This record gives sequence, C-alpha cells and structure tokens, in this order.
Amino acid sequence: MTQNFTMHSHTTFSDGKSSLSEMVEQAKKIGFSKIGISDHLIIHKNIDKSPSWEMMSSKPDAHIYKKDFKSALPEFQKHCDELRNFSEKAKFKILIGFEVDFFTYDGWLDEMKEFLSHLDYDYLISGNHFLFTDNCEIIYNIHKNIADFADNEQIKNLVSNHFKTIKKSAESGLFKFVAHIDYVRKMGNQYCQPHDFAGEKAALIKSLKENNTGTEISTKGLRKIGDYYPAPEILRQIAAEGVKVIISDDAHRTTELGYDFDKAEQELQKYGIINRITE
Ligand SMILES: [Zn+2]
Ligand SMILES: [Zn+2]
Repeated sequence: MTQNFTMHSHTTFSDGKSSLSEMVEQAKKIGFSKIGISDHLIIHKNIDKSPSWEMMSSKPDAHIYKKDFKSALPEFQKHCDELRNFSEKAKFKILIGFEVDFFTYDGWLDEMKEFLSHLDYDYLISGNHFLFTDNCEIIYNIHKNIADFADNEQIKNLVSNHFKTIKKSAESGLFKFVAHIDYVRKMGNQYCQPHDFAGEKAALIKSLKENNTGTEISTKGLRKIGDYYPAPEILRQIAAEGVKVIISDDAHRTTELGYDFDKAEQELQKYGIINRITE
C-alpha cells in the first residue's frame, strides 16, 4: 500500500502557500491518516550578511529567515499551540515538526537545543538550503545564481562541505530524517553529477544508518528538476545500507499533498527499499 501520510509539508507559517486549515482539509479529502506539518526553522546569526540576502529578503517569504533565537521563540511556541489546538478541533492527527537548517558555527548547536527545549514539537527534519565552509560564518542560499558568488573551485568545496554538514546533522541525533540529500542539483546538474562527491555521499549514507536517522525520497524533485531527490546512485546506496526511507511531497500548497506517491512507491520498490518510516 502506498504511504497515506506526509511528514514534510509547509503552511503559510513559513513559505507554504496554503493555510493550516486548507492543508488539513485536503489531507482528509485524499484519505491521509495524518499529516506532519514541518515548517522551516532557519536561524543564523549572520543570515542578513549572506551574499544571497538581497535575493532572499526581496521574496514574500523573507520572514522565515531569523537571526536571533530569543526573539524567534514566541512565534514558534504560538505556532505549536495553534497546531495542537487545531488538531483537536479538526479531529485529525497533526504531528508537529520543523525542517531545520543545520548550521555549524560555534555555539549554534547549543543555542538550537536550548531553543528546542522550549517548544512542544513531535519531530525534526534536517533540511539544508545553504552552502558554507566549515566555520559557517557566511552562508550562500542554494540557488541557480550560485555562480554570481563563487567560482567553480569554490562551489566544489562548498558542495563537499554541504554533504559533510548533513552528516553532522545526522550525528547530532536530533533528526527523524534528512530531507533532499542532493538538493544542490537545484543549482544545475553540473554541480553534482552522479560520480561527483562519491566519498562524501557514501560517508553520509553510512552515518544515517549508524545514527538511526532516515531520509526521504522527495517528489518535490519531480516538480522542480524532473527527477527525485535523491538521484539513483544515492537510492542504490540507501538500499544497500538499509537506511529507513519516507516518501515526501514537501507540499507547499494543497495540490502538492500526496503528489506522485504511487510513482515514488514504485521507485522505492525498484531499488528494493523496504525499510520505511511509518510514524
Ligand atoms: Zn527543504
Ligand atoms: Zn520542505
């Protein structure tokens, strides 16, 4: 049977285009048994110093980028309360998640853990949308205009570090699963060909298994780049290591809920991926 829920979805609280009530309404309509709402949680002390800031801040969803944990806390607490209350009112199971950008500058992880200790949530997804070097002081949005900010050699180093960052997020033990492992393909396939970063990819997938952290096959890739995240060579390694997988739509609007889940199920079966995240 094809998975009848999503754990990766967004509402207007972050950059989704549909409200919570619209998403829940649709989830019921298509026969979902529950919905995990995983709005973005992106906090970096220098986010407004990013070379990508002009582009990011000019978008309608610029409010999702935060630079300070303390001032961000009240709205996240209120969001959690609203989800709990709505779940009860709608008589529908809503799991409260967040899609967290994992940063690696000194102090970030401790601050994030402290922040999370004040939130009533159910699970976390590691979803990484930025490139940076190990000290993580300056971050670049993963975007088609990456060539404006860095030359090919720099981009190579940034992407290599990106896979290492996702590995660190798995090692933190905070996350149920990591999202869109090879999201960097969004910048253009030339930045991450199947044979590129083979060592980084293999180490990441091994660490997912070791840290009992899952990953997703995302049909958002089908909508954005005409292929799943992740690419076939990564799916093969996931199968070989026995990493747990969930099908994700990464829905940002009602029409994306459950998007091509049947196809994704067939894809997983093709690789013999049977170990799944069910709750
Ligand atoms: Zn994401
Ligand atoms: Zn997402």
